[in-house]
Amino acid sequence: LFISFEGGEGSGKSTQIRCLEKWFRNQGRDVVVTREPGGSPGAEEIRTLLLTGDPGRWDAVTEALLMFASRRDHVERTIRPALAEGKVVLCDRFADSSVAYQGYGHGLGADYIRNLWQLAIDGFKPDITLIFDLPIEIGLERAGARFANVSAAEDRFERMGLEFHQRLRDGFREIAAAEPERCCVVDALGDIDDVTARVIETVKNRIVG
Ligand code: C5P
Repeated sequence: LFISFEGGEGSGKSTQIRCLEKWFRNQGRDVVVTREPGGSPGAEEIRTLLLTGDPGRWDAVTEALLMFASRRDHVERTIRPALAEGKVVLCDRFADSSVAYQGYGHGLGADYIRNLWQLAIDGFKPDITLIFDLPIEIGLERAGARFANVSAAEDRFERMGLEFHQRLRDGFREIAAAEPERCCVVDALGDIDDVTARVIETVKNRIVG
């Protein structure tokens, strides 16, 4: 079972991944928690290239190609082997983030990214994708607290205005609408426990249903 966690900045997906991990472990399942960009040694090296240095270092196409290079390594070295062993794989961001960030956010277009997705990893997809949704102002406020002391990350935020984040949010919702059998929008507002309850309810329904 492969589940990806998606959403904009400060949507709480990293916290919720830990909660769902605990839930699966309580059911006696083996769980691998991983993240993108990164998740395998080679992909983590590419992550460093992507997220450090001058924020304008890569143009949008190069950024998208590096994302898919890292994703391919991650899929081949980490995700597929874990699934073959019957493990649950919980992934913090996957290819839908490329559609949202590089496709909608940076304007390459969703189709362009979906073509890359097909070429790079044969269109390999999660079984379930949870899209954490909340108003961008609230997400940025939450993320602002987290990134207060990280200057490179802060630069990235300053480079991208509110319109960028709104395109991301709208993009994620379009992604969910296009594939409702795989994607599920989760209301990310409220207490951690409330959101966890929504996540577990959604996953249970999808696994059984
Ligand atoms: O929010 P999280 O810590 O998972 O994301 C790391 C950073 O990577 C985000 O700030 C986001 O801007 C960036 N990212 C991106 N394109 C992707 C995936 C992540 O720009 N496809």
